[in-house]
Amino acid sequence: MSENLSLLARARARALDAEDPLAGYRSRFEGHDDPDIVAYLDGNSLGRPLSDTLARLEAFVREQWAGRLIRGWDEGWLELPEQVGDLIGRVALGAAAGQCTVADSTSVLLYKLARAAIAARPGRTEIVIDRDNFPTDRFIMEGIAAERGLQLRWVDLRHDGGATAADVAAAVGPQTALVVLSHVAYRSAHLADVPAITEVVHDAGALVLWDLSHSVGSVPAELDQWNVDYATGCSYKYLNGGPGAPAWAYVAQRHLEDFRQPIQGWLGSADPFGMGSDFEPAAGIRRIISGTPPIIGMLAMQDMLGLLGEVGMKAVRTKSVALTSFAIEAVDELMAGSGVVVTSPRDPERRGSHITIDHQAFRDLVPELWAKGVIPDYRNPSGIRLGLSPLSTSFEETCVGIQRIADSLPRP
Ligand SMILES: *Cc1c(COP(=O)(O)O)cnc(C)c1O
Repeated sequence: MSENLSLLARARARALDAEDPLAGYRSRFEGHDDPDIVAYLDGNSLGRPLSDTLARLEAFVREQWAGRLIRGWDEGWLELPEQVGDLIGRVALGAAAGQCTVADSTSVLLYKLARAAIAARPGRTEIVIDRDNFPTDRFIMEGIAAERGLQLRWVDLRHDGGATAADVAAAVGPQTALVVLSHVAYRSAHLADVPAITEVVHDAGALVLWDLSHSVGSVPAELDQWNVDYATGCSYKYLNGGPGAPAWAYVAQRHLEDFRQPIQGWLGSADPFGMGSDFEPAAGIRRIISGTPPIIGMLAMQDMLGLLGEVGMKAVRTKSVALTSFAIEAVDELMAGSGVVVTSPRDPERRGSHITIDHQAFRDLVPELWAKGVIPDYRNPSGIRLGLSPLSTSFEETCVGIQRIADSLPRP
């Protein structure tokens, strides 16, 4: 890479940071000044913790767990899943209250929601899913198809793109019960046109389950307005809930009354402490819960949700687009002639908050980068993903990361 180009890119990154109205939020994240972390470019896999989270966790253990003990369940813990669910709905999903809850992992919620959707379309025999969807989404649907005697209809997509309304229209029909897709594709970052695709699915008489793991907290959503049926997503990515933080589920109000999921546990029943003989589902979204809610796992995400609420998803998206656009420019300039290919959409309207670049050398390169504090991640077959979490990532950090990757590529 030319020294000159590198200096120019760095100067441009600094100028972008200087004029970024959200730049100051980065210092609210724990570890933002850690000299061993040169560039954290994996906020799409595990968001950084907010410093406020340290205080929240300590206060919880001291005051609530130790101080209130079992009484805590009657003093707010039992309602916490729906409360935090409503907060996610309001801040990040465009969902009115009463349709979201926190529970389980994304994988388990995909299972519960898909089973509920299939039960709501009796007689239909197919689940439509794309071949590039995240492995757990595909594996869970394979399992359900085997369990319920259904067929999977696979949609093949471009490696650097994602599902369009036309792709989905070609795959759905009178046998389709359910379509399962990601809002932002985990590899390419393709941003799906949710309202258009949802309409195509509904025109076929089917239901749609959207996975927002790679968008929630970085790309605004309007689930109510878009007429979505079901949705789920992670809270440890752009919601900074911490490793293994529980996921959230959305069920549109119109489906709640008949919603039946297969893991009928006591805490999703109408009267858990009645210790009754037969299962009757709780009213509303509560019925998706099976067992005791993960209270500690729901603490950290509340800090990030508070911050996202303060900043607003529109401003977050503006910064995200600026970061990914800058990253593509920097890759084009600094890796020109190296054989590196951008395998994410170049149109920011069709792109989430990460970009993927491909090169055969990347598989061996990532461990070296991690050892030097440059932290993107690697995804088969040959991609480095640069995840740019809008509130915790600076332009300069993005630039330095890309420069280091460019420097470590084998010379042609
Ligand atoms: C990260 C991710 C998941 C992860 O599911 P877990 O159950 O939390 O492991 C699922 N789906 C998509 C699209 C993801 O990006």
